[in-house]
Amino acid sequence: MPRYVPAKGNLDAKVMFIGEAPGEAEETKGQPFVGASGYEFDRWMHESGMLLNDAFITNVIRFRPPSNDISHYMTTVKKDGKAKGWKQVDSYFLSETATEHLAHLENEIQAVQPNVIVPMGNTALWATTGNTGILNFRGSTLRGATGIKVIPTLHPAYILRNYNLRQVVVKNDFALIAKELESPEITENEYNFKWPLTHTHALELLDELLNLLSEGPRFCVCDIETWPHLGQIDCIGFATSSRDAICIPLFGKDKPLGIWTATEEYQIIKRIREVLLHPNILVIGHNYHYDAQYLAKNWGIRSIPKIDTMILQHTLFPALPKSLAFCASIYSKNYRFWKEDKDIKVADIKLADEARWAYNCMDVARNFEVAETMGNFPEPLNLVGPVAAQQELFEPVLDMMLKGIRQDIPNKEAIADELQEYLEECKSRIEAMVGFPLNPNSPQQLATFFYDDLRQQTIRDRKTRKPTTGKDALERIAIREPLLHPLIINIINYKAIVKFRSFVTAKLDDADHRMRCTWKVAGTKTYRFASAKDAFGSGGNLQNLPKAEQSKLARIVKLLGNPTIEEAAKVFGETIGKTAEVAHDSVEKGMLEVWGRGSGAKLTCKLYLPNIRSLFIPDEGKGIIDSDLDRADLQVVVWEAEDALLKQMLREGVDIHAENAKAIGMSRQEAKIFVHGTNYGGGARTIAISCGITVKEAEAAQRRWFQAHPGIKEWHRRTFAALADDRTISNAFGYKHKWFEIRTKDDKEIGYFLGKALAWVPQSTVALVINRGLVNIHKNMKAEVDLLMQVHDSLVTQIPLGQEARLIPLINKELTIEIPYPEPLYIGVSSAYSEESWGAVKPYALQKAA
Ligand code: URA
Repeated sequence: MPRYVPAKGNLDAKVMFIGEAPGEAEETKGQPFVGASGYEFDRWMHESGMLLNDAFITNVIRFRPPSNDISHYMTTVKKDGKAKGWKQVDSYFLSETATEHLAHLENEIQAVQPNVIVPMGNTALWATTGNTGILNFRGSTLRGATGIKVIPTLHPAYILRNYNLRQVVVKNDFALIAKELESPEITENEYNFKWPLTHTHALELLDELLNLLSEGPRFCVCDIETWPHLGQIDCIGFATSSRDAICIPLFGKDKPLGIWTATEEYQIIKRIREVLLHPNILVIGHNYHYDAQYLAKNWGIRSIPKIDTMILQHTLFPALPKSLAFCASIYSKNYRFWKEDKDIKVADIKLADEARWAYNCMDVARNFEVAETMGNFPEPLNLVGPVAAQQELFEPVLDMMLKGIRQDIPNKEAIADELQEYLEECKSRIEAMVGFPLNPNSPQQLATFFYDDLRQQTIRDRKTRKPTTGKDALERIAIREPLLHPLIINIINYKAIVKFRSFVTAKLDDADHRMRCTWKVAGTKTYRFASAKDAFGSGGNLQNLPKAEQSKLARIVKLLGNPTIEEAAKVFGETIGKTAEVAHDSVEKGMLEVWGRGSGAKLTCKLYLPNIRSLFIPDEGKGIIDSDLDRADLQVVVWEAEDALLKQMLREGVDIHAENAKAIGMSRQEAKIFVHGTNYGGGARTIAISCGITVKEAEAAQRRWFQAHPGIKEWHRRTFAALADDRTISNAFGYKHKWFEIRTKDDKEIGYFLGKALAWVPQSTVALVINRGLVNIHKNMKAEVDLLMQVHDSLVTQIPLGQEARLIPLINKELTIEIPYPEPLYIGVSSAYSEESWGAVKPYALQKAA
């Protein structure tokens, strides 16, 4: 029988904290929150000025669950066996113990009658409010099931795993709790929300808005709600202040064909167009590329916002969440998550239309307040320039999304078939090796096979601590167990090809069979765009599209001494099910590389894959250009380090890796890996492993490298000092990244983040160069150059046929951006061109010479 862990604290407490269930330390001591979570919780109390003596602390379940897994008592997933016969309440299945303990919790709440209840984590959130989704609800002020004020926050154990959110909990949620515990009252914002029930009223509301706009420039938030299954905008909201909003509905749950007659709808949309294109409107949106795609496609309105609060949040704090709910929770007063609240459930289109329209009004009103508050941040954070530059990306990126890219349809089908054939082959090889059909895409089956059947030591995900069979884990198993190499390579390849094939079979726009993607300006911490399906489900993530005909599919480390190419070819052949001759042929073509020595020797196997980029073709009468930045990251590192010698070598176009190889006494390939790793803060041990040399050799080589290039060491020192100071790193353009995850000023801890911080500097700088180039091309060459894609560090455009000799140099000029170092850096651009396809582009200068 587990030990019962009772609540602790003051029965007169004004605030009651509720956790999930005791852990090991709590079970041992018989008190809640006395282990690692408890220690963290105590610090939050202290930092927000609350006294532990004034609090009552309890748990939903008072027994420690086996393996700390709460689903032994209550769960949202009906697993066979476990939840059998359990009582279902909302989305939860409850064991008898859970039912008893929940009743006990309710009695406790009645006995204490605190001013505020603070559920920490999802289990307690549900137990006190019936809601789920703690990341959305945290920081809300709600009325709980017992009528008492509830302010949910994140669980300390979650914060220990996601430390970047700690500041949000302490500075926002706990500060709010400290204030709110003084009274049981709930302060709610008063809103003036309107929506029309008649056509005349709809026009009146829009006319009022137009009148306001005619008075002068005015910020106005816009947000649409959609029925994606029908590709429809079902309502559109506008806010002219943080309290005043209107919603114009177009469809309703009982009006799936539209609320208005065709003429009425025409008049309404005409007014909406006048609003959105009014010369005085300063549109504010959140993730407005979504809205803008719908507005353009459905109503032909090209709406460009002045402020997108998602892009703004990303520029201010690239490491924090960006959703409107999150922004509202920290930038608006009396926040209450309004989307999936159990009492409202407005997002469910089956429920009342008016609730949905109220929710649309709330979206725009909250976003107005968010924008107002956020407007105060760029100046003190010294981010005015970056904020303006990021907002400027909206328009060219929207045009790029709307344009889309033409596809080679017949070839698409042929390539999809070819890949399918390869997948079948790969699968049967795996089956032959294992002896039964193992599905390489099932993490569950892989985990059972490697960890249970083969008894390999379990590799766990660093964050979730759950057993993982991702690529890194499989590679580690292959390193430990060379006999498993062939099997593991096949599994990794299979998974890679499934992913690869999904690019080929990605949905195209039904209307014109072009591929359209959403390019996410706020998608990554390094300011590269992320890409995903567009608002209508076409396209996908093009950032990972492999280059040309070769694709590196798998990399393993051999532990067999110094392998010869012949030995490697044999392993390669066995691995991919080809004969030794074919394998050897692959070696000749550079598809298989061996480098390193001794236990660090590496074997890289590559496979020929169809040229997927050849499916992306220019429009009729156009040619396609891929513009790439030359050795971009390396140049930024050299300029950060102010290394005169390396600068000179780069300017002269010397093969810098070959020169370094001579200087350090390694092969070119080893030197390339060594310099890259060392420049990004890799220690001797890591470098030794990745280059296949001994730790002693790596240490000696690093000493020589830093002696020859003291600026690199100095750059590391400077970055380390900045992390230790306020965890914030800047790049040459003045963009900042704060590593909220850094917990202490301990050298070892900061050292762990140093490599990431060092990599962020060149990556973000290069991304910003491309982004500025993209804006320039859009501004200055729109009439002749269409932006198509931004993938990795290159930009893909199309131009009229026969104009390449004139336009390519002009495009290169627009992409040549000054990086504002004391001695400015300009990164050179290489262009490749083809009249056929993106996959067929050839370096332009060579083509001219030929
Ligand atoms: N986590 C909880 O949810 N409760 C405790 O008491 C300790 C850790």
